[in-house]
Amino acid sequence: MSTEIDHIVIGAGISGLGAAHFALRRGQRTLVLESSERIGGCINSLQFPQLGGFWTEAGAHTCFNSYGHLLSILDDLGLVGQVQAKGKVSYLLWKDGEHAKIFSALHLGEALRSVPRIFSLPKQGRSVADYYGRLLGQRNYQDLLRHAFQAVICQPADEYPAEALFRRKPRRKDVIKAFTFADGLSHVPLAIAAQEGLEVRTGQRVARIGWDGERFQIETGATTLMSRFLTLAVPPDVATALMPEGFAAAREAIAGIGVAEIETLVLVFRATDLPVKPIAGLIAVEDAFYSAVSRDFLPDAGYRGFAFHFRPGVLREDGQVERACLALGTTPRRIQAQARVHNRLPALRTGHAERVARLDAALAGSRLGVTGNWFLGVSIEDALTRSKSESDRRFGA
Ligand SMILES: Cc1cc2nc3c(=O)[nH]c(=O)nc-3n(C[C@H](O)[C@H](O)[C@H](O)COP(=O)(O)OP(=O)(O)OC[C@H]3O[C@@H](n4cnc5c(N)ncnc54)[C@H](O)[C@@H]3O)c2cc1C
Repeated sequence: MSTEIDHIVIGAGISGLGAAHFALRRGQRTLVLESSERIGGCINSLQFPQLGGFWTEAGAHTCFNSYGHLLSILDDLGLVGQVQAKGKVSYLLWKDGEHAKIFSALHLGEALRSVPRIFSLPKQGRSVADYYGRLLGQRNYQDLLRHAFQAVICQPADEYPAEALFRRKPRRKDVIKAFTFADGLSHVPLAIAAQEGLEVRTGQRVARIGWDGERFQIETGATTLMSRFLTLAVPPDVATALMPEGFAAAREAIAGIGVAEIETLVLVFRATDLPVKPIAGLIAVEDAFYSAVSRDFLPDAGYRGFAFHFRPGVLREDGQVERACLALGTTPRRIQAQARVHNRLPALRTGHAERVARLDAALAGSRLGVTGNWFLGVSIEDALTRSKSESDRRFGA
């Protein structure tokens, strides 16, 4: 590939790889630059070769048949037939050092009194605490929902915009409701990256981007590459820092969007060593971790894996290991493998839709695209929906 490229994408998470895929299908030769040595970003099916290739998810774990843009990519790649159904396991609460059923925290009377509001209360402009507190009652919000939402977005949920969680989307009847792949969700980014016409270079941290009115100049430290079109597919703080000169209004629109740092601890145990029955995971109530997600949805004969998503800076590393083992009813001596992953998710606030509208006004008519998990919501499908609309805007639908 020469140093002048049709389209460069920065960031090889699902947003960037989706942007590359959609552009490629519109005939754009596309190069993706990724700072880390691994592609996939928050999609990270961690393999343990020393445990016979056992894997467990350190980030995203579930896709749904309502993920239309993801399914369109899987159609293009011939992968729909390979999706793997997830086994039925449930989440438990982890509260006051004990496991409890989710419904034990539900105040049924309060929830029933709230039912009429389900059809009339608008989400727009409301925070999660405001919307769900009104929808299902304050006690239900305080005792159950806020912890469940925190478990999903791995950060405090109260001030998060309600419209950025659980957007209703049509379901595809020919695909199972909740799925993964036999080797985990990393199957998807790896398959997108492997297709002809698309190149991904890892270990390429983009430090600066110029724009001369015709071409973008992308500096990675070692080289400068040029492209006619550019897509930023990085977290909002990185996008703000990399915004090329000449796009001041775009930079101003997104400056200051928060990012939540998540200290993820992945632990693997022998299946025979754990007393806790198979679970989808744990939703923590006021603890040092927000949630734990297990690999029990795809049982393995030998091992069980868990990703604990910790609040940053609360416990030291050994303290996190002890807390995670306590929550699983075991001890650190039983750990067969462990890994640490730094996850980041956007910390959106109400009024975010207006920021996005300002950004879009600033980008209109330009060859610069900006995508990520910080537009419609954090799900894989939300990210791909943005990547598709930014592709359509510049390369045609
Ligand atoms: C713990 C967890 C569980 C989740 N569970 C689910 C789930 O079950 N289902 C679901 O739908 N969603 C889930 N999500 C959300 C979803 O996985 C993410 O929102 C989505 O994968 C983010 O993709 P992205 O490409 O926008 O960002 P990222 O995955 O963060 O990718 C951004 C990429 O940009 C790279 N980058 C950053 N700076 C630079 C630079 N200067 N130069 C070059 N590259 C750079 C990063 O290294 C990274 O690879 C989960 C997220 C987390 C963290």
